[in-house]
Amino acid sequence: MAVDPLIELRDVNKYFGELHVLQDIDLTVGRGEVVVVIGPSGSGKSTLCRAINRLETIRSGTILLDGRPLPDEGKELARLRADVGMVFQSFNLFAHKTVLQNVMLGQVKVRGTAKAKAEEKARALLDRVGVANQADKYPAQLSGGQQQRVAIARALAMEPKVMLFDEPTSALDPEMINEVLEVMRQLARDGMTMVVVTHEMGFARSAANRVVFMADGRIVEDRSPDEFFTDPHSDRAKDFLSKIL
Ligand code: ADP
Ligand code: MG
Repeated sequence: MAVDPLIELRDVNKYFGELHVLQDIDLTVGRGEVVVVIGPSGSGKSTLCRAINRLETIRSGTILLDGRPLPDEGKELARLRADVGMVFQSFNLFAHKTVLQNVMLGQVKVRGTAKAKAEEKARALLDRVGVANQADKYPAQLSGGQQQRVAIARALAMEPKVMLFDEPTSALDPEMINEVLEVMRQLARDGMTMVVVTHEMGFARSAANRVVFMADGRIVEDRSPDEFFTDPHSDRAKDFLSKIL
């Protein structure tokens, strides 16, 4: 694919103490691309996402967002976090704010948007993810699937350049998984650049441009979903697929 790189990791290494959790990671995510990251538990998928958002620092290597190195601190870092939307397994909404306030807050505080404008945008986004009628409730009053869709709306409100999803459906009851995946599929169709850690292989097949398979802190395969699922090269990937498919 013609690559207009939005995220570039070059020779990235990270340790937790003795544990070499990211090993010589090279990864480019093009603008508008959907990259699904899969691999066994403990292989470094979450750490990879967190490094891109600079929730984790790295030992060596370079991470570029839109051609620029990740900032270390201050306003630049807050802007980076807004540019890189992140959705976690646990929904991480502010429990004491309403759904509407959750989606307005970052716009006002980080982007400096006027309140009326922020509210208008928040309502439009809540509508887009199918929870417009929940705007005045508190997160605990919503189902898990609804909360996760609010979390997506909240990230989108910042007009991110890329969205990172770290197992966004893993904590959901089965009947709610699809409503979240459908919002993500729609985002992908709208051209959002996305990095998605997931065990939902149906999503990977239908929405991903590339599948990145990680094991033991390394990227072992980086290929189209078609190639990966029909003909995995590595024993690690074959073994992994035999367990989950
Ligand atoms: P995955 O998301 O693929 O399951 P993680 O990135 O969460 O993997 O973790 C990779 C490895 O790093 C695991 O062995 C995990 O136990 C370890 N790890 C993750 N976070 C920390 C931390 N904050 N301190 C120490 N070890 C960690
Ligand atoms: Mg993880």
